[in-house]
Amino acid sequence: MKAQEQILINWIDEHTDDLIQTAKDLISFKTISSAPDANERYDKINEYIASVFRKMGLEGKVVRRGENGSPNFVVVMKGTGGGKNLGMGGHTDVVPADEPDWITGSGYEAKVIDGKLYGRGAADMKGGLAACITAIKALYETGVKLAGDVVFVASCDEEVGGFNGMVYVVESGSVNVDYFINAEQTNMKAMTGYKGNCWLKVTVKGSPAHGSTPHLGINAIEKASEVIDIIKKTGFTWEEHPFMGKSTINIGTISGGTAKNVVPGECSFTMDVRMIEGQTHESIIEEMRALFKKMMREDKDLNISVDFESEGTKPIIIPDSEEIVQVLKECGKEITGKELVTDSFISAGDMNHYLVRGIPGIMCGPGSLSDIHKINEFCYVSELIEAAKLYSLAAMRLCK
Ligand SMILES: [Zn+2]
Repeated sequence: MKAQEQILINWIDEHTDDLIQTAKDLISFKTISSAPDANERYDKINEYIASVFRKMGLEGKVVRRGENGSPNFVVVMKGTGGGKNLGMGGHTDVVPADEPDWITGSGYEAKVIDGKLYGRGAADMKGGLAACITAIKALYETGVKLAGDVVFVASCDEEVGGFNGMVYVVESGSVNVDYFINAEQTNMKAMTGYKGNCWLKVTVKGSPAHGSTPHLGINAIEKASEVIDIIKKTGFTWEEHPFMGKSTINIGTISGGTAKNVVPGECSFTMDVRMIEGQTHESIIEEMRALFKKMMREDKDLNISVDFESEGTKPIIIPDSEEIVQVLKECGKEITGKELVTDSFISAGDMNHYLVRGIPGIMCGPGSLSDIHKINEFCYVSELIEAAKLYSLAAMRLCK
């Protein structure tokens, strides 16, 4: 590590109280995206973030779709020019914390207990945002001059689809970055693989009859149940991917029938399919159609059709040869002494908006997926500190 880099790391070590306080401050804002007054709540947290950056002489800007879109907030730490630009950040919204028995008394009153920071959003993902803010503060306070820009993004509405959130930030051209680090909770693993997804709707048709004479009809619900059994047994013919794992299917909703005393003439259900590398939306639906065709040949009473309810994202792997992966690995090892683990994630989430534009993005942040959206959400303080160090050192090397 160069002398200037060591100064940066030392600065973070000397300011861990400030980092924790920033995370606690962010957690205190009840930025529940499903609340009717969510926009006012976002305004308050964005004003707080703006005030933190204003002390560094940086003016951020609110980015919103139309006049009434939920507000995102973007701050650019301008480089001297000619370098690569690194974006970092994530979403400010959270799910509600209505459970009465929080170890902290309330989900919005963050506390550190035994090395863990508790509170709604500690892991998803105000802890990660605090680490990004502290990383930029460290660069500023230690007088680091970078050629490229460091761009901080606080997006909204991730928990409710993100139409006004990160998708708009990227779509509107409000950020100009070569790489993006999304500080979502990954236990400080660098996610370089993201499963794709799609939703399929399967419709099974039967033949209605009176409920007292089921033999005179074809029961669509019973037929659908047979179809689901076969789907769960057969799955897809794809081998488990060595990095991404298995492709998965979840039957999420089902509806059918009109009355208790009528043999149902139709039943439909939806499938959430998570795709691994090699699978495409076309291959998924073709495979399903082939399976159904075979079933219909064997059972003349079966009538099944399948269509996309929505096509989601494609599976993506960011190769290890990408500069951002290499730099994060180097930095991670130098900071902790241990190899930075790369892994594959359930989906790219907000990151997908960067990935589809060819901008390599890595999800890497404090906290764990298994501890979020529930009571006593937490992240380890050690991971918060590690994240701040990793982001600032990576910025120094990527933006030169
Ligand atoms: Zn999240």
